[in-house]
Amino acid sequence: MTPNRTLYLEPSPVRADGGFQVGKLPASIELQDLSGLGHPTSPGRAIRAKCMDCSGGNDAEVRKCVAVGCALWAFRMGSNPFHGRTAQ
Ligand code: SF4
Repeated sequence: MTPNRTLYLEPSPVRADGGFQVGKLPASIELQDLSGLGHPTSPGRAIRAKCMDCSGGNDAEVRKCVAVGCALWAFRMGSNPFHGRTAQ
């Protein structure tokens, strides 16, 4: 079911935006409503989901991604390769 996106929009607090609707800050949304949107609940899962979307749902293509300049590339397998490691 498509969420009613208007529930998650608000008038921009920036005057220059002229009252246009913008996305609410996620932390201002009730947790149950936020969960109801079906988004991943961690940055790693969100990145993985984005990479799966980018690769047409094919996990092998995410594994083989050659776009090393993409900001998500190092995290595409759903984990943080920087965690617990120090540069040599
Ligand atoms: S890392 Fe690769 S698969 Fe993931 S979003 Fe970037 S280009 Fe797409």
